[in-house]
Amino acid sequence: MKKTALITGISGQDGAYLAQFLLKKNYKVIGTNKKKSSSYWRLTKLKIRNRIIIEKMNLGKKNDINRIFNKYKIHEVYNLAAQSFVNTSFYSPLKTSNITGLGVLRILEVIKEKDPSIKFYQASSSEMFGNDKSKTQSENTRFNPQSPYAISKLFGHYITRNYRKAYNLFAVSGILFNHESPLRGDEFVTKKIISGLIKIINKDLDFILLGNIHSKRDWGYAKEYVVQMWKMLQQKNAQDFVIATGQSHSIKEFIDLSAKYLKMSVEWRGKGLNQKLIDKKNKKIIIKIDRELFRPSEVDHLKGNIRKASKIMKWKPKTTFKRLVKLMINEEMKLYKKTN
Ligand code: GDP
Repeated sequence: MKKTALITGISGQDGAYLAQFLLKKNYKVIGTNKKKSSSYWRLTKLKIRNRIIIEKMNLGKKNDINRIFNKYKIHEVYNLAAQSFVNTSFYSPLKTSNITGLGVLRILEVIKEKDPSIKFYQASSSEMFGNDKSKTQSENTRFNPQSPYAISKLFGHYITRNYRKAYNLFAVSGILFNHESPLRGDEFVTKKIISGLIKIINKDLDFILLGNIHSKRDWGYAKEYVVQMWKMLQQKNAQDFVIATGQSHSIKEFIDLSAKYLKMSVEWRGKGLNQKLIDKKNKKIIIKIDRELFRPSEVDHLKGNIRKASKIMKWKPKTTFKRLVKLMINEEMKLYKKTN
């Protein structure tokens, strides 16, 4: 029998890759979004736009969720929808907690009431670890969230666990560390750096403004991570997993590697807010630090411990940091040529 998967947040990076993967697995895919008229450029780019049923579903409204679950016989739910920008969450904390946090509970309530056999995947986030001081973070690390976004994700994480225990739902959370790709939104630092540097080379932009470039992240390739979401729902036992690469790099390292692959001759000058990246050839400033882009509270260092996922799900990241940077640059250059 053909299975039906419901993906919330279908217009995002992970929604697009997961839909592509599930279609290959012969699923019927229903994708939801808060607005029906949203941009689906990622689905178009992957050539799957016409193979997905798109529905409007607002996670802030339980009736909206009820309506979709009444309309379709659903087997698996992947909850990827969220107000997903950490910085925005400081300025819209109520909206963030309503959608990113309470939205999870609204879906779980509908599953519990209508069909407890539906499997549920919750997109938890490494941001929940926040200012953890240990070298790596695993499923057993204490959470110490640093933003309304992370606190809302933590609510989603715990309520998923609670519904698994209390009502015996097959409800699991994947604690995914940062995962990037050519489909990443411009709001995230990796995409901002790469698209900015390419514009500077083409004289389309003078310089890039960044916040804290000394924080470290464990960056993997989103296309590989969505496969693990599916795998978590195919396990015998419902349980949570950390998905990461186990390697971590600073934003500055990301910039240096990007500049190297783009064959730019650059050097860093100055310290703190005066730190700048300079083009050695024409002495122009390429990157400046902007105090406004610093977060009210920062997560300094994230590095995943992937022992559990490696053992139970045979998780092994294939795309290294270097390959990820190269892959994003190559795609961004193609896109730039096409649109200019
Ligand atoms: P996050 O880990 O989910 O917050 O992913 P982001 O890509 O948004 O941010 C990663 C890190 O880059 C954080 O430590 C940010 O503070 C840092 N960063 C520095 N400058 C910027 C910027 O201009 N935009 C973003 N999004 N992040 C920045």
